Amino acid sequence: MNKSGVLDLTIWAKELCEEHGVKYHGNITTNGYTLDKKTFDNIFQKGITNYQITIDGNKDSHDKLRPAINGKSTFDKIIGNIKMMKKSPYHFECIIRLNVSDSNFEGVKSFIKNETYAICLNDSRFKIHFHPIWGRPELILTQKNQLEELNVMVDSFGLTHTEESGLTDLNNNNKEKIDNSATKKGREADYVCYASKANSFIIRADGTLQKCTVALKDDINNIGKLNSDGTMELDSDKLSKWIFSKDKGCPLQALALEKLAVPYKDAGKFDNPISL
Ligand code: SF4
Repeated sequence: MNKSGVLDLTIWAKELCEEHGVKYHGNITTNGYTLDKKTFDNIFQKGITNYQITIDGNKDSHDKLRPAINGKSTFDKIIGNIKMMKKSPYHFECIIRLNVSDSNFEGVKSFIKNETYAICLNDSRFKIHFHPIWGRPELILTQKNQLEELNVMVDSFGLTHTEESGLTDLNNNNKEKIDNSATKKGREADYVCYASKANSFIIRADGTLQKCTVALKDDINNIGKLNSDGTMELDSDKLSKWIFSKDKGCPLQALALEKLAVPYKDAGKFDNPISL
């Protein structure tokens, strides 16, 4: 995490909102590895109130999918940081996201059975979110009822899961929806991805403007530039493809499914692990 960058941005955005009478709150998606107490205190107090932290199963499963850049374990440190958050008095929301595939399904179940009580029980600030892994055939989730099985397990333990659960099965290059009730309640019913909204932009560190937070390296996602004087240059042709996409739930599928770049492309390759 670029801690000073995150702090600078949230302080700037919060002050700007206050000047104009707008309520500000920030969200952060992080692997949680460097979210220590000092960092958490700092960014929460500056307005970042919503967190998403990914744990890919129990220690064994997680460390296979999400090792440190030197190949070492990251699980204990991330869990320690989440438990530190739990001890805080702050009112925040933290989604614990578990990416699920055939290869880590048992590890995810084990995590739910053995680890989540200490974090989530009687603490409505924490919610569990299951997500199928997609983009690499070796990380596919083949049993469509497995996400529902996990949600039922979470319910039976008195814990909370998010309603939205699951994307499209992209591994088969088709648009077959993962069939679980949470998906039907969430994405299939009326979900509109922020990438389809005209007022939603991702600002990359170099000022590049994008729409989708997954296809970060796909040129179809580069729709403009934020200049240092605050003006925006937009490529209206590219932008219109996202906004008028036929698939509002995931406009990227309508645009460039075959080119889809996913963050898991290096997962499980220990000679080329995900950098933290
Ligand atoms: S366009 Fe599709 S892949 Fe990109 S953020 Fe939206 S739902 Fe996810």
